[in-house]
This record gives sequence, structure tokens and C-alpha cells, in this order.
Amino acid sequence: MRIFATARAAVHALRPDQPVYCFRPQVLKDDARNFAEAFPGKTAYAVKTNSEPMVLKTLAATGFDCFDVASPAEFEAARTVAPDAELLYTHPVKAQSDIRLALEQYGIRVLALDHEDEVAKILRIVRGLDLDPEVITLLVRIAARGQAAYELSKKFGAAPGHAVELVRRIAGVGFRVGLCFHVGSQAADMHTYERAIASAAWVRSRAGVPIDLLDIGGGFPARYGHDPRQAPPSHPETGALIDDIVGQIAAWGLEDVPLVAEPGRVIVARSFSLIVRVLLRKGRRLYINDGIWASLSDSWTGKITLPARLLPDSARRKRVGNPDNIVPFKVCGATCDSVDILSRPFYLPETVSTGDWIEIGHIGAYSLALRTRFNGFYPDTFVEVTTPFEAAGPAESLASLETMAD
Ligand SMILES: *Cc1c(COP(=O)(O)O)cnc(C)c1O
Repeated sequence: MRIFATARAAVHALRPDQPVYCFRPQVLKDDARNFAEAFPGKTAYAVKTNSEPMVLKTLAATGFDCFDVASPAEFEAARTVAPDAELLYTHPVKAQSDIRLALEQYGIRVLALDHEDEVAKILRIVRGLDLDPEVITLLVRIAARGQAAYELSKKFGAAPGHAVELVRRIAGVGFRVGLCFHVGSQAADMHTYERAIASAAWVRSRAGVPIDLLDIGGGFPARYGHDPRQAPPSHPETGALIDDIVGQIAAWGLEDVPLVAEPGRVIVARSFSLIVRVLLRKGRRLYINDGIWASLSDSWTGKITLPARLLPDSARRKRVGNPDNIVPFKVCGATCDSVDILSRPFYLPETVSTGDWIEIGHIGAYSLALRTRFNGFYPDTFVEVTTPFEAAGPAESLASLETMAD
């Protein structure tokens, strides 16, 4: 992979017509360490967020030895870079063949579920393999409700009363018992975690059996952009958010239970930016060479304003407008699909023209991972960049870092 100081330098050298991912291994290491050092339990990176070997290798080299996985491909991706890593199989609904593979081939000993039929499914395979249930921890996923860009409780999780029954059943069979929740991605506030922790405490007190693990899931928010004409949204700083969560865990009497977290977005978001090219400017619309079927679907469904920086084509001398006037542009994606229009604008100088480049920052989470080959567009070019996105000059829509006022 070629190495550049900044995306601007990469554009200067490559004049790329295809999207280019700029990977920043040092930023990934810093954000990964920042989380792991602030969190008093085990940190299990959620592989689905970005499973590129370069990401997993960098995390393994940083000392990450525990991964949150949901499929055989993810078991393999994690084990390839970290052969001794512990894997947590947190998908609540699993194929029988995948459960068998997890237990038999990958030595996975922690699995999540939210229904009694899943307990029966796992138990049948455990008996078939002649394993002692005592060596396996089953995590009962509790439904968590709250504010997040992606709210997942509609799909997974047992209501607290049901979770109590599941805990008793699992303990009765002889498995070890854990509790888990996942508040959804890009959680908007601390209250979302508080409610989930309160539910976990309630389930434990009602169930009356020992709880060996509390898995607080992911959801920790990453920094994105905002409309520069408005005040930046208050953004919880990761360390402060973790301190609050740990405080709540103690306040609910759960401080004696070993903890796990499964961060994805907050670990990997800042470590990639994406260089795209303006294929055509039509008034206040920009047609770019990436879109919702390639790297930008997360921003589309999550209604996330992405931080964007104009990298003007220096070959183009004549410009219309004032470079200091920042205006919103509607962004149209590369495919012929008419839904391929971003749900939030890019805020850029009004001088943008056809042929310019835009560097989109903080795009490491749920970007590459969600790419499709739809319409024949599949961005797959990578460079390494050494300067963090926010250190390479102004980006008009980048939210400033603020400690959450809570
Ligand atoms: C997706 C997922 C995560 C990671 O979520 P982030 O919001 O990226 O931190 C963690 N745990 C589970 C169970 C998930 O499904």
C-alpha cells in the first residue's frame, strides 16, 4: 500500500477517478487503546463493523485478543489474524451447523441467545459433541430500548420477565449464565445504557442464580459532522461515557460481575477517510463516484452528516463564488438507482466544481463492510495516510469534541 502524509498529497500524486480509502493505522491504534484503557473489562471488537485484514491485524498488534463475531466468515477472519483470540458468538439466532462449527472447530465458549428454542438447539449440539455445559457461558440478550441512530431492540432481545425465565432454564441445565444487551449503534445518550443496566440488574435479582458475565454490547458513538450554521451537537467523549456506564453498573450493584464491551464504530470510524471525485456539479447537486450501494449506506440509513473537506483540482484555475462561503450540497451516488442520494448534504465551499475531490472523514465503520457490486461499482483502492483527518486542515462540518453534558 502506498503511504502519503495526507489525502491531499494522495490526490496530488494519483488524481484518482475511483474512490480511494485512506487507512490510518496509528489512529486506529490510538482509538483502540483509548477504549481498552478506559474500560475496566474485556474489550471485544465487533468484527462486522470493518473486517478488513488490515484493521484486524492492526488491532491484534495493539493487543486485542477478544472479538465479537456472528458468522463462520467472521470466526475465520478473527482467528486468521489472532490465532489465540477469544471469540464471543453474540448473534442471538444461529444456524445449527454454525453452532457446531463454533463449538467444535473454533473452541467458542460464549454464545448469546434470546429464546428458549435457541437454548434447546445449542444444548442438542453440546450433548452431541459430549461437552460439559459447565464450560459454556450462554448470554441472555435483554431487549434494550432507547435513542440511537440504529435501534435494534425491534429485532433482538428478550423482555426482562422472559429473560428471567431463560436465565433460570440455562442455569438449570448446567450452563454458565451471562447477561448482554446492545443498545443499537451510535447511541445518542447515556440514558440508553442506564435503562439497559437497570434491566440487567432487575433480571439478576429476580432470577436468583449466579451471573458470570455482563456484556454491555456496542453503540458507543463516533464523531461525525453537523450543519456548520448550527451549534455542534454535544458529543459524549468515550472515556467520560465509559466512566458513566461503569458508575451506573456499580450503582445497580453489578460491580462484582466481570464485564465485556463490544465496541465497533467508536474503534474504527476515525481510522479511514474516503477520497471521492465530483463527476458532475449541477447547481447545488454533486454527482460523485461513490454512494449508498458502496461506502455510504451507513450515513444514508443512519441520517449521519459526514465531515467533508474539499480538495480542489489545482488544474482548474477559474472558480465561481467565494471559497469562504460554506453551503450545503445534495450528494448523488454513482449508480443509476434514483434512491442513491444521500440523506444528509455535504457542507462545502460554494466554489466546488466538476473534477474536484472530496475527502470524507471518519468513514471507517460500516462503509467498506457494506459495499455491494451493484451496477458494477465497487471501490477497492487503498492507501495509507499518516496524518489524522482532523489534523489536515479545516473540515467545515466536523463536529467539535464536547464532553457530554449529563
Ligand atoms: C453491531 C454490534 C456491535 C457493534 O456496535 P457499534 O455500534 O458499532 O459499537 C456490538 N455488539 C453487537 C451484538 C452488535 O450486533
